[in-house]
Amino acid sequence: MDTVIKTLDKDNIDEAIIKEASKIIKKGGLVAFPTETVYGLGANALDEIAVKKIFNAKGRPSDNPLIVHISDKEEISSLVEYIPKNAKALMNAFWPGPLTLIFPKSKKVPYVITAGLSSVAIRFPENKIARALIKESGVPIAAPSANISGKPSPTKASHVIEDLKGKIDMILDGGHVKVGLESTVVDVTGDIPMILRPGGITKEMIEEVIGEVLIDPSILSLKTVNFTPKAPGMKYKHYAPQAKVIIVEGNLDKVIISINQFVKEKQAKNLKVGVMATLQTKKYYNADVILSVGDRNNPKTIASNLFDTLRAFDEEKVDIVFSESFSDKEIGLAIMNRLRKSAGYNIINV
Ligand code: AMP
Ligand code: MG
Repeated sequence: MDTVIKTLDKDNIDEAIIKEASKIIKKGGLVAFPTETVYGLGANALDEIAVKKIFNAKGRPSDNPLIVHISDKEEISSLVEYIPKNAKALMNAFWPGPLTLIFPKSKKVPYVITAGLSSVAIRFPENKIARALIKESGVPIAAPSANISGKPSPTKASHVIEDLKGKIDMILDGGHVKVGLESTVVDVTGDIPMILRPGGITKEMIEEVIGEVLIDPSILSLKTVNFTPKAPGMKYKHYAPQAKVIIVEGNLDKVIISINQFVKEKQAKNLKVGVMATLQTKKYYNADVILSVGDRNNPKTIASNLFDTLRAFDEEKVDIVFSESFSDKEIGLAIMNRLRKSAGYNIINV
């Protein structure tokens, strides 16, 4: 299949391109588009055959449900059974934005989307290109991240091209995304809401609006075992580059000394070794490839660059990457959640 690639400026959107993309959606095709979190792979959420194409193109397991994207709060009414009180407060506070809420689904939502669950995940994204596409298509758009399942999520169009060119109808290139990590997923169907996936909207921000929220125990676990996550997708191998990733945790000075030692040991075995450092620490390392993931004093930069940096190590054909670790506070919880998964929970404490 030929994949049409079009560049769009989110501050001056070319309506003709949006029309072309929405025609593809209406006809049951697939369009990758930018959101403020990561790039999404979209299809008409009410068209079962179109939705199945998403699973095929990504190689996504069919028991991993999709998020449905809307372009106006009102559009939710036909998709959900009812709107819980806490959900209303969170919608008012954070929509449009990087927050996905889990609702009891209405009959209109096909079970392919929810992987057989009676709940549905809904998000109203802020990115103007995403909103224009959903609006012009006139239907809710089901969209997981636009990557091959298991790989780091795409934060720029070149990542989507690398993974999905030839498998989907169109890619809208809207430049580098803002947040860089997938949306926060919150289940609002119970008495006390629960975060199923941490993201750009942090636990602290949510608590300011509705008080107590729980965190799915699997998020806080430092191992793969023990807990079955409540967001089905969180159990899969995820965010993993080709290279083996090992996180080194502890006092930062010790981390630097230890990583340099580990690098030497691996290089002695003829491996090409990378280090995922930060702006502040990059200069202290000796390795084959040293990349800064961002600024320790501004964790949002780390969130925004994490997936791109993991993919950059693959471009350099690195065999193994040693990564510094970060605080679990605020957006750090989302950063460490993705980093631990990309490392398959390979963590060395020093
Ligand atoms: P992705 O679209 O790749 O960002 O993944 C969507 C995430 O939302 C996955 O982790 C899903 O398991 C989760 N999700 C989607 N729908 C539901 C649902 N109805 N209940 C719980 N988690 C969900
Ligand atoms: Mg994904």
